[in-house]
Amino acid sequence: MGSSEFTRGRTIVARLKHGADLLDEIVTLARHHGIESGALQGLGALQRARLAFYDQTGKSYDEFPLAEPLELTALSGNLSRRDGAPAAHVHLTLAAPDGRAFGGHAAPGCIVFACELIVTELLGPPLERAYDEVTGLPLWRGL
Ligand code: ZN
Repeated sequence: MGSSEFTRGRTIVARLKHGADLLDEIVTLARHHGIESGALQGLGALQRARLAFYDQTGKSYDEFPLAEPLELTALSGNLSRRDGAPAAHVHLTLAAPDGRAFGGHAAPGCIVFACELIVTELLGPPLERAYDEVTGLPLWRGL
């Protein structure tokens, strides 16, 4: 285990743009407010989605599209830096009209119908991602 202490900074409340790509909007928001590290929570609806599941043996993401309108019942994630730029790591739980739920790692291609997002800024040491040999994932370096 590795850990580091942070304190809470600003809280940003945002309404994301209809028709925009969810991950692009989150990164744009982080840039606009100069947030380097943070926690994300949100809800709303997507016009369509693209989720991913990490294959721990093959060490790669398997992506799958969901080509229908879905309720965004839970968005959780974080902001840190990767290759010197803001990066959002987002997981979603999405619900279909009959109540079935899908979940996974948000990939590019999640299109916003409406989304209310709350960003909690975290102030502390630089939180930067780097390739981790064991998992094959870009994990936080130095923790
Ligand atoms: Zn993930």
